[in-house]
Amino acid sequence: MGDAHLEPMEANIKDYVALATAANGQIRALAVVNTDIVDEVRHRHQMWPVATAALGRTMAATAMLGAMQKGKEKVTVQIIGDGPLEQIIADADGEGNLRGYVQNPHVDVPNAEQSKLNVKKAIGAGHLWVIRDLGLGEPYRGGVPLVSGEIAEDFANYFARSEQTPSAVALGVLVGVDYRVRASGGLILQLLPDASEGIAIMLEHMVKDLPPISKLIDSGSTPEEIIEQAIGELQPKYLHRLPLRFTCSCSRKRCESALIALGVAELEALIKEQGEAELTCRFCQEQYRFTKEELEALRAQIHRDQPTQ
Ligand code: ZN
Repeated sequence: MGDAHLEPMEANIKDYVALATAANGQIRALAVVNTDIVDEVRHRHQMWPVATAALGRTMAATAMLGAMQKGKEKVTVQIIGDGPLEQIIADADGEGNLRGYVQNPHVDVPNAEQSKLNVKKAIGAGHLWVIRDLGLGEPYRGGVPLVSGEIAEDFANYFARSEQTPSAVALGVLVGVDYRVRASGGLILQLLPDASEGIAIMLEHMVKDLPPISKLIDSGSTPEEIIEQAIGELQPKYLHRLPLRFTCSCSRKRCESALIALGVAELEALIKEQGEAELTCRFCQEQYRFTKEELEALRAQIHRDQPTQ
């Protein structure tokens, strides 16, 4: 802990990813706290607890996947199930930008045993997709069928099957009685190619003995402290600390492009039938309003750009 080359943190940023290696480079470890960001999304979408738990876990894993990328390289996670949540989307990049949403934020399913939120039931059967956009044209897309629907195991299965990297994944969200997020975060431990079998077995036991991630975070643990709790005896070396922020890439310009992409006929119909347009960003709930005059200007722009239409 406390390696000299770690970037200094702004005192108020609690949400960040810590990245380390351990056991002389045989293990890669990532841990994240994303409590404040998940609570911001919860507030923006007025989410109910089981949706918050599912999204918080997905965003924790996505933030760690993002921290494995370089700079603006983006990773998108999509979980599509036949349960009432329908779809969970999150994306992150190597600069710490993170966002996400669930298709249906107002979902309620009976709790699982010990009054745990039943994320599995809310998601149902389906697939987990990971899309990595390295900015080199066609993004890389890998997916696996959901094996548990509790998300952590599904990511472990994804790493093993799609990326051939044996991994232990723990994710946890604690939602308060007031629906606020008390704790959210996760841990990923991966065996690197030259890991010995002894290390693999040791790791399995260490992860089994770890208290629930949400409890650790609720009691104030930082990402580094989560890694210490899990694999402290394997001498983790901290490489990188990535502060996270909720950022959305939506803009009025992008909405204009979307309206223009509708084409002249659709735009004409919109002007005639509605007389205005209101677009809402699915990620951040920001609303963009367009008056009749603004829509007509966009229509005129299509005519200018494609005079044959
Ligand atoms: Zn947005």
